[in-house]
Amino acid sequence: MSFDYDLFVIGGGSGGVRAARVAAQEGVKVALAEEDRYGGTCVIRGCVPKKLMVFASEYSSMVSDAQAYGWDIQPGAFSWDNFRTKMYAELDRLENIYRGILKNNGVESFDHRATVVDAHTVELSDGTRKTAKHILLAAGGRPVKPGIPGEELAITSNEIFHLDKLPETILIVGGGYIASEFAGIMNGMGVKTTQFYRGEQILRGFDNEARTLVADEMIAKGIDLQLGTNVVEMTNAGDQIRVLDTHGKEHLFDQVMFATGRVPNSDSLGLEEVGVKLGRKGEVQVDDYGQTAVPSIFAVGDITDRVNLTPVAIREGMAFVETVFKGNPTKPDHELIPTAIFTQPEMGTVGLSEEDARAQEPIEVYSASFKPMQQSFAGRSERVLMKLVISQATRKVLGCHIVAPGAGEMIQLAGIAVKMGATKEDFDRTVAVHPTMSEELVTMKSPTRTS
Ligand code: NDP
Repeated sequence: MSFDYDLFVIGGGSGGVRAARVAAQEGVKVALAEEDRYGGTCVIRGCVPKKLMVFASEYSSMVSDAQAYGWDIQPGAFSWDNFRTKMYAELDRLENIYRGILKNNGVESFDHRATVVDAHTVELSDGTRKTAKHILLAAGGRPVKPGIPGEELAITSNEIFHLDKLPETILIVGGGYIASEFAGIMNGMGVKTTQFYRGEQILRGFDNEARTLVADEMIAKGIDLQLGTNVVEMTNAGDQIRVLDTHGKEHLFDQVMFATGRVPNSDSLGLEEVGVKLGRKGEVQVDDYGQTAVPSIFAVGDITDRVNLTPVAIREGMAFVETVFKGNPTKPDHELIPTAIFTQPEMGTVGLSEEDARAQEPIEVYSASFKPMQQSFAGRSERVLMKLVISQATRKVLGCHIVAPGAGEMIQLAGIAVKMGATKEDFDRTVAVHPTMSEELVTMKSPTRTS
């Protein structure tokens, strides 16, 4: 049977574009459909604009630091308008690069929504049908609101990049990556920021000592973090939003943002009708190679709701091409993935938390929390954390947790050592780079805790 294409990719985000490009470079005939902007969540409404906003927000505290270092410098006002214009231009530039990658590699792209009609056919929103030997689902995910009365008054991370003006006050609901990162961003931009989290401590699942330090420092920077608190309902109060919390208290905010999780974009794609199995959250169920219950249909990235990170989607896209088009069955490796949370302070982490490691086997914990030179000289009291969790049996580093400016950059490198199976003694044999914060990782002599 002959098909229009060897591969039809649904979704022009990180995973879909990478798979399309790498497959096309193998001489495969590829098409891709994207209903929105090319680049997907990461480039258009996620990692990239978020990180630009983190950078923008961090300048607020740099002025007083510069003064402490002897600079005659005065704080000025932050112009959201100027910043947003530049941010939009940057996103346009990046979107063009993504379009260019597809075009230059001979991938035919359709600016349409695509749905699956059968195991080898997709239908575009203009009604045309295309056939392909393989279909790759890479449609990503989207934020969800929790389903409470008045929630239509609130925004999500999709809208936060498009505010006409910065609010004077904002409530951010949730305690995950997105909520905690945006609490820092808004606070740094001068918005009076409140964060509600229903649990005991934000960043559930990460190392307790690390997330507690992040939370303490966020509070010290002025974020009103209210733990064990959730929203019951919201009502309109003129220009503001009235919020009733779970303690029966009412609050007024100019803006409310829900960062209460994301769901896969698997609905109304025609998937279950053709036999693709979905999980409880709507995640496309795949085997270790990304293959769905329909042999010709594969899936990568957030639509599968495994590890929802851009570099993971990219790896999954490349493994798919290896498996399907290069005759080299490849399982994407989901072990020991380093990750950074761009809170203020930043957190970088790889491997097991102290708590998860202890539940698994006897461990030693090496932990150093101190005031770093640069900030301490500027009169700031904030602390950083360098932490290693070691297996008593194998001496391997099971987890490395860093809370510090630049933690994301540091954990990328520490991640290589941990991934290679480095032991505590390997870290100890490495000469310190002095004076740095991360030298603590190779100079901690006695365990802080053993269990
Ligand atoms: P998360 O799943 O990380 O966090 C959702 C948060 O919302 C949790 O704190 C959760 O609480 C809370 N929540 C869920 N339901 C409700 C509810 N009904 N009422 C109140 N609170 C609720 O999702 P995010 O949206 O923050 O991020 C999604 C994913 O995107 C992340 O897991 C990550 O993979 C990725 N991401 C990565 C980034 C990075 O690499 N720096 C940055 C941003 C996103 P509880 O803990 O109690 O369940």
